[in-house]
Amino acid sequence: MAFRVVILGGTSEGRLLSEQLAGDDGFSVVLSFAGRTRSLQPPRAPYRVGGFGGVPGLIEYLRAERCAALVDATHPFAAQMSRHAAQAAALTGVALLRVECPPWQPVQGDRWIEVPDMAAAARALGERPLRVFSSIGRQEVAAFRAAPQHEYLLRAVDDFDPGLPRARVLAARGPFELQGELELLARERIDIIVSKNAGTAATYAKLAAARALQLPVVMVVRPALPVVPTVAKVESAASWLRALADRHQARLDVS
Ligand code: NAP
Repeated sequence: MAFRVVILGGTSEGRLLSEQLAGDDGFSVVLSFAGRTRSLQPPRAPYRVGGFGGVPGLIEYLRAERCAALVDATHPFAAQMSRHAAQAAALTGVALLRVECPPWQPVQGDRWIEVPDMAAAARALGERPLRVFSSIGRQEVAAFRAAPQHEYLLRAVDDFDPGLPRARVLAARGPFELQGELELLARERIDIIVSKNAGTAATYAKLAAARALQLPVVMVVRPALPVVPTVAKVESAASWLRALADRHQARLDVS
């Protein structure tokens, strides 16, 4: 019987892992999306969309699916889902692995202002009106209502109403390249960038562009997550799952 894996998605790593496992007869996989984007790009793997209904709903889902392993490949800022995954895994005994790329680190020439959350990011912009570029996303934009004096250019996968007096939305899907980011920042006469420390290669170019243009970046650090076994790479997650599936099979063979 195939080894049943549920992957909590939201990152390119989750998508890649699900597609790798979908091509392996030893595994049966389902990739779960929160449903945050209107234009979901379907993966080449079985998937589902939408919340589970908190920890009880997730436990029920894992049991109904006869899930043997849960992989938390959510966005580093999707802290609630990661907390729920840790609690549900502990309560059901389902093996849990987190796939998480390391946070970006500042390098020479970067002008980062690190802040703990979005409210602090809005304060860090200061009083003087600035032209701000950000891809923080629809869910977080409300924090910037406290700083309505700035002009915001907000990049997101889907267009949305930012609810800010001076804001425009630029609908675009990554990955983004350095040249395009340099042109965008120059064309829009951007003074400062606000970014979450996502750590992904797909959205790093804006930081390299900011460095080249000597622009400051207000960098929101990652929220604290439960301590669980964690790997950085899709290959490591696949090896971990293969070893787990082999042990599972060996136990079945003995009994
Ligand atoms: P969250 O606050 O951790 O999760 C809120 C709820 O959404 C969860 O409790 C769960 O609902 C549902 N959920 C989240 N991820 C799910 C998944 N993979 N499958 C099924 N349900 C899921 O996360 P968030 O509200 O999505 O986002 C928080 C932050 O992460 C924001 O800054 C957002 O911009 C960033 N982010 C998220 C994603 C993403 O794909 N979720 C992608 C990019 C950035 P139930 O409690 O009902 O199970």
